[in-house]
Amino acid sequence: MAEMIYAIPNVQTPNAPVIIDPSKCTGCNTCVEICQIDVFIPNPKEGEPPIILHPEECWYCGCCMTDCPTPGAIKLNYPLSLKPRWRTKASGEIHTLK
Ligand code: SF4
Ligand code: SF4
Repeated sequence: MAEMIYAIPNVQTPNAPVIIDPSKCTGCNTCVEICQIDVFIPNPKEGEPPIILHPEECWYCGCCMTDCPTPGAIKLNYPLSLKPRWRTKASGEIHTLK
């Protein structure tokens, strides 16, 4: 008899570490495989975006974003303390990490 497994995602903090665009994600689960600390699990619905199960465990290594084969399907949402800002001395233009 097949066993049923239940998984309940932890509540996301306002600063969700990764954001998946469901209109672009193909549900290939590359990010599920590559994340070394299992932030995601595959969606039981084939082709749907993975479920972010343990968002608070993300340490922003960027592997999921780097290895995702679909441009723009997943992006990191760095916490404020990790969002560098810098200014071009000559022009005064302010830059932020996208
Ligand atoms: S940034 Fe790293 S730790 Fe966070 S979800 Fe992606 S692969 Fe996992
Ligand atoms: S690697 Fe990219 S396209 Fe594949 S499931 Fe993850 S976010 Fe979606």
